[in-house]
Amino acid sequence: MKKLTIAIDGPAGAGKSTVAQIVAQRLNYVYIDTGAMYRAITWQAICQNLSGEDVKDIIQIARSCDLRLVYQNDKTHVSVDGVDVTEQIRLPEVSRMVSAVALIPEVRAEMLVLQRNMGSEGGVVMDGRDIGTHVLPGADVKIFLTASIPERARRRWLELQQKGFAIEFEQMQQEIITRDKIDSEREAAPLMQAADAILLDTTGLGIEEVVQAILQVCKERL
Ligand code: C5P
Repeated sequence: MKKLTIAIDGPAGAGKSTVAQIVAQRLNYVYIDTGAMYRAITWQAICQNLSGEDVKDIIQIARSCDLRLVYQNDKTHVSVDGVDVTEQIRLPEVSRMVSAVALIPEVRAEMLVLQRNMGSEGGVVMDGRDIGTHVLPGADVKIFLTASIPERARRRWLELQQKGFAIEFEQMQQEIITRDKIDSEREAAPLMQAADAILLDTTGLGIEEVVQAILQVCKERL
């Protein structure tokens, strides 16, 4: 049977990774979390005491590091130069800096090559901000997931609470607004719904409802 290429884009906290992982499992496809790649570069930069303004050094990291994503036991494991950074890339300080790293065109160019290599065979669900518009413009299925800002902030806030980070809800909401603004307004491959993407607002929807809606689109494409 033909194996589809599925692109899932949308702003922070829209539920992309949760839903994309389940869709990939149900279809027996590979799941690729492109946000994790920008987060890994950001974590390397933080380890080297760099800020988002140290553009040259960040480009150097993106060009020289050995970045790998391995999907194992229902989880994406991310390693840089052989070191597992899966947990570190979810730290709040990474979330705060990642959009500044992701707006550097040279960094995006490096990630694009890796992402296209991983997505070239079909049988993949790739999530991010620019998958349907730039990375895989010929994807068979394009979904743009969104939800209201308070809903997205609530999801991220709960996630962090569960991990033991005490962060104010208001601050969380503000960080999400800031990140979306940088992601949408940057020049290189901004966060944008592709003209041929299906818009799904997940506010008030359960995970399974969203998964079923996407699987239905996949069925139609097959
Ligand atoms: O999806 P996640 O929240 O982990 O993404 C982290 C950040 O990585 C985003 O806020 C965005 O700045 C960047 N990103 C991107 N393009 C992608 C995926 C993520 O610019 N395809």
